[in-house]
Amino acid sequence: MQKILVSACLMGSKVRYDGRDNALHHPTLERWQQEGRLVPVCPEVLGGLGVPRAPAETLSRFPILIATQSGEDVTPEFLKGAETTLAIAQTHQVCCALMKARSPSCGNREIYNGQFNGTLMPAPGVAADELIRHGIPVFNEEQMDTLIAFVEAQIEASESKTLPSSGS
Ligand code: SF4
Repeated sequence: MQKILVSACLMGSKVRYDGRDNALHHPTLERWQQEGRLVPVCPEVLGGLGVPRAPAETLSRFPILIATQSGEDVTPEFLKGAETTLAIAQTHQVCCALMKARSPSCGNREIYNGQFNGTLMPAPGVAADELIRHGIPVFNEEQMDTLIAFVEAQIEASESKTLPSSGS
């Protein structure tokens, strides 16, 4: 079965830094959940950070440095969360991931630039980056149409492989 890794906050888990969620009420997501295709993860919680927690931003990508506004270095927790997220994705052999946009862990295309003033920069979060570097496509909640088309194509391809041959 084709499975999809999902940011837990998009599934309604209250794991955001402020103890809230980013619940995405989308009929296709709800159908995938009923079909048992979704694997929810929160990389920051997997990395050992609590809820609530101070928000963090990426001060540097090379070398990686992620910190709170008060200067607490939370890079080790973010890296551990990214590694664990990848391990879960590989265990479940997910075909792709749906991750929360602009999160320093889950963002797939842009993240805040470390100045804590709302400025974005074009880069993935650490967990999304880990998935992408290991060949797992990552979509965000603003790319649902593209994600759905991708997953449906994966499902169709896997089902055609399992159909009995015509016997010719
Ligand atoms: Fe959501 Fe990802 Fe942030 Fe966890 S780390 S709260 S899953 S965006």
